[in-house]
Amino acid sequence: MKGVVFRLESDLPAEAMFLLQDFRLAVNCAIRAGLQARVTSRNAICRMAYNDFRKDYPDMYAQHLVSSFEVAASALKNHRRLFRKGLSARVPYVRRLMMRTENQAYKLDRGKGTIDLPIKAGRHVMLKLVVSQYHRRYLDDSSLSLGSLTVLPDRVIVPFRKDAPRPYPPESALSLDTNERSLDGLLVDEGSAAVVKASFPDVAAIQMRHHDRRKRLQKKKAHDRRTSRELCKREGRREHNRVEYRLHKVADAVLSFAEDKKSTIVLEDFHGIRHKKNKDLNRRLSQWPRRKLHRIIEYKAQWRGIPVVKVDPRYSSRTCPICGRKQHSRMGAVFECECGWRLDRHINASINLLQTAISRGMVGGLRFDPGAFQHDVMMTLYEPAMAARSEPNGTSCVHVAT
Ligand SMILES: [Zn+2]
Repeated sequence: MKGVVFRLESDLPAEAMFLLQDFRLAVNCAIRAGLQARVTSRNAICRMAYNDFRKDYPDMYAQHLVSSFEVAASALKNHRRLFRKGLSARVPYVRRLMMRTENQAYKLDRGKGTIDLPIKAGRHVMLKLVVSQYHRRYLDDSSLSLGSLTVLPDRVIVPFRKDAPRPYPPESALSLDTNERSLDGLLVDEGSAAVVKASFPDVAAIQMRHHDRRKRLQKKKAHDRRTSRELCKREGRREHNRVEYRLHKVADAVLSFAEDKKSTIVLEDFHGIRHKKNKDLNRRLSQWPRRKLHRIIEYKAQWRGIPVVKVDPRYSSRTCPICGRKQHSRMGAVFECECGWRLDRHINASINLLQTAISRGMVGGLRFDPGAFQHDVMMTLYEPAMAARSEPNGTSCVHVAT
């Protein structure tokens, strides 16, 4: 599932704006009703509230009303989850103007780029979408089906769904250790192995720069909390966009490489790892881009039919892949073991991830002998300079001194 954003060629017609307002009202009423009756499922809310709402909104298209219950149900579920975790007790309330409608309720003309949106019985509005080449790729692919439409005052989001292709049978493994500034690892196939690296030092740099800027803003606007908050929010959005743009580039490069080599991608499973509360700024900042990068890689891989497996990363950075000894403390840049094994710490971690995956049978019949591994060639999957190039070719070889 991929949500594609379309801008509208002109403002939403007044009728549609009224519909958005009604929809928001219906959602918020349903949320309150659901909270009172302690129900969170769409069907329960629907049974309970449909008739009352019908009286209040006699004109609203029935499908839209049911969709509003759906939105309310997901807000309630989210609320319950946060509430149980003790994170939020605030009653959920939808502020922004929006509506959602199921795929039976609207009609998308893929050729013309228009959406026919019913308002009420006998009344429809036609929304003209701004269609670029990027949008054409989705519109023209008839194998993609449509999900629920989201309508906002200036844009719509159309989810395109594809039956996930079956992942290819892997001929190699691309094992990657995820770090703050890079993905480091190995490409291993039957008989050979090479060190690979995708580096994105600019992500941490952007985060740092924006962090400083926010700090300065807060200080400068200390007398005006509201303005300060607004400016910080804008800073945050910018940072988010800039980081995400780069993560997508990294993910695309890694995926194209894996596809080319028919690899299974092996990543560490961050799930369930609770980091100790850490005041160290760098650590805190570095958490979300890594997780985000994994999410992007995973969903794009699924879309493209590239197999991804995730393994428990515990001790992966402290274990010797030759003799199995666990080092007590984290290492410097180089992992060293009493048995004589010596290797870049990150590459070493990726070997351990790969061996876990192999021992669990997650990468087919692939074998790997770390003892016979020569690591004098490094393949660059991605580096910041590639962001400037129009077409990253995915690989370039450089020799590294060892
Ligand atoms: Zn050892």
